[in-house]
Amino acid sequence: MSEQVANDIIVVRQEMRPGWTCNVVLVFGEDKIGVVDTGYENTPEDYVFPLIKEQGRRLDEVSIIVNTHRDGDHIRGNTVFKERTGAPIAIHELEKEAVPTADTKLGNKVKLGDRTFKVIHTPGHRPGAVCLYDEASKLLLTGDSVCGTRENLIRMDKNIYINSLKKLLKLDVEMMIMSHPFAPPDKDILRGDEAKQMIETSIEIAVNLKQN
Ligand SMILES: [Zn+2]
Repeated sequence: MSEQVANDIIVVRQEMRPGWTCNVVLVFGEDKIGVVDTGYENTPEDYVFPLIKEQGRRLDEVSIIVNTHRDGDHIRGNTVFKERTGAPIAIHELEKEAVPTADTKLGNKVKLGDRTFKVIHTPGHRPGAVCLYDEASKLLLTGDSVCGTRENLIRMDKNIYINSLKKLLKLDVEMMIMSHPFAPPDKDILRGDEAKQMIETSIEIAVNLKQN
């Protein structure tokens, strides 16, 4: 279920139920590995660690782990990851209290592998949700910050969510990797216009959403 999407990037998919997967993104640098989200308790041992070893790499090369936000499907592997790799876990300061296994607060930028990602604060699903943007390759990792038809995931005032998505629309995106296969495209990796369309559609859905 894993997919290599660039020389140095592998998306590890774990099937939760038919048609629904949860991702961990691995960024393989020359001598360091960056990880985005940790999945469930069994995700590291059953899915991620075997893959790192298959690549001829070592677990102690993992230098940093980012949690895009506080939800279980993104953080429950934290403890095992920390025990086995020794790497710190970074999260936005507004999520930190909700995730005791996180170690440090994200700054404006984070180095994953040999890439430098801008940390874009995109509240709406969660107060401290973030997207990661690599300007050099126009790669955007969105976690659950762009969730299309899943209106129930807009857990804050929808205007906060809409503003976050408008920030993303300004970015030049060649590839967007979401944590789940959100609809309408029902897939988690979108390229070029597909990505822009997904963000626009998500805004439209939120605009039409009735919140009390
Ligand atoms: Zn999720």
